Amino acid sequence: MQTYAVDGRELPLRIAGDPALELVNTLARWSGTSTDQVDHLHDYDDLVVWARECGLVDEVAAARLRRSARRDRVTAGAVLREVRRLRRDVHDLAVGLGRRAALARVSTLAVEARQSQSLTATADAVTWRFTRDAGLHEPLYAVAQAAAALLTSDASGHVSACPGDGCGAVFLNPSGRRRWCIMSVCGNRAKARAWAARQHASRDPAPS
Ligand SMILES: [Zn+2]
Repeated sequence: MQTYAVDGRELPLRIAGDPALELVNTLARWSGTSTDQVDHLHDYDDLVVWARECGLVDEVAAARLRRSARRDRVTAGAVLREVRRLRRDVHDLAVGLGRRAALARVSTLAVEARQSQSLTATADAVTWRFTRDAGLHEPLYAVAQAAAALLTSDASGHVSACPGDGCGAVFLNPSGRRRWCIMSVCGNRAKARAWAARQHASRDPAPS
């Protein structure tokens, strides 16, 4: 997965069209071996920056969360582990491997998330906002709500996984016509391999 630099870290390009699926793609090479896989969420700060980039937490909350995490590294580490668990559950549910236990875990988190929110009036609307009770869990809860929204929407039936070598990145694919995560990465690699295979076959004719 291609990355871009933000706040001194590398995050994957957002190509999925849905924040819960973008979370899945913070682990690169789902279809590779576990030693091939690259986790872009190394620490809690990565999680907060990623969540801010996805619009799941705002600038003010992100700055507050990063300050709080420095004071409570134990909770921050525990939240990051829960996010990684959620990431696997969302992946498995999105690609049809998910079992009842995965759905139950997403459900529990989504319910906890709502219990940490209150209805708040802004200048032009009333909206659910996290209260201070959410604490360091805010990015976890925000992405759990995004996962619940995805799973309960029609879009959940239109998720594809990139067939690129070892890739497995997921994305919304309502038309069914998109094949690759990023054409210039996985698509071109597949084309280059097919071309090399044809060259090899033409130099090395099958024995008669
Ligand atoms: Zn790919």
